[in-house]
Amino acid sequence: MTAAGFTISFVGQCIVITGGNRGIGHAFSCAMAKAGANIAVLYRSSPDAEEVVAKIGKQFGVNAKAYKCDVSDTKCINDTISKIDKELGPITGLIANAGVSVVKPALELTQEDFNKVYDVNVFGVFNVSRAIGQLWIERKQKGSIVITSSMSSQIINKTDSKNPLTQIFYNSSKAAVSNLTKGLAAEWAQHGIRVNALSPGYVNTDQTAHMDKKIRDFQAGQLPLGRFAQPEEMTGQAILLLSDHASYMTGGEYFVDGGQLVY
Ligand code: NDP
Repeated sequence: MTAAGFTISFVGQCIVITGGNRGIGHAFSCAMAKAGANIAVLYRSSPDAEEVVAKIGKQFGVNAKAYKCDVSDTKCINDTISKIDKELGPITGLIANAGVSVVKPALELTQEDFNKVYDVNVFGVFNVSRAIGQLWIERKQKGSIVITSSMSSQIINKTDSKNPLTQIFYNSSKAAVSNLTKGLAAEWAQHGIRVNALSPGYVNTDQTAHMDKKIRDFQAGQLPLGRFAQPEEMTGQAILLLSDHASYMTGGEYFVDGGQLVY
């Protein structure tokens, strides 16, 4: 990536991207591959993930491989990270992006719903960060981790009688993971490992595709920029945070939200 005297290159690096086969993660995978990085994508179940990731590798002339592994499964994560490190590594960066939501009124939410959301959005992020952090600490290697949180770590989307739902477990899991970002940043700064959160506003992906058009229009109407983002609009901040140009940035939460937080 080059702009008037400002170049960011990831040639020779290996970046792990969880959920990098679709949505915002897919845009991260393409951006990192375009900047020269070899990419390792972790996915849960999409049948076309291997094909999608191989296509990114071909398009940008880098090594790109998909690994099927649930981020909340500790054994699978430890084995897969070790495999990636041998096959494409050494791993130099992580985008912990995989996330899920359950959309139901508060009175219908269950313990199972809670576990489903927190296992991925909080423990899953920790699990993969720990596996990679451990590698780096053991071999005294510096590194950068970007965690996809959400603007809902800070605020609840606007409601009215026609749009009453807020995604209670999702929002609170994102507040938790934004705080987890600060904890990891504080503990690992001494090892040269930076950890930051990137918090998107509404983005056009499968996660928002289910929204009723009236609710979409209502929510977009609340935003200063008046529209949902495209996944590619999240990539500039991620590239910066992973790069050495962000060498003094750690423990931060950076909003890419169309101005949602100004109101
Ligand atoms: P999508 O629903 O489009 O994609 C989710 C991705 O995460 C998929 O690649 C999926 O893999 C993967 N994934 C889910 N669970 C697991 C798991 N247990 N283990 C491994 N991979 C898993 O999501 P988005 O692109 O919309 O969101 C990406 C991130 O951005 C999430 O953390 C989300 O919370 C956050 N975000 C999204 C916003 C939006 O408006 N879209 C707004 C703010 C934050 P598979 O394809 O195999 O299912």
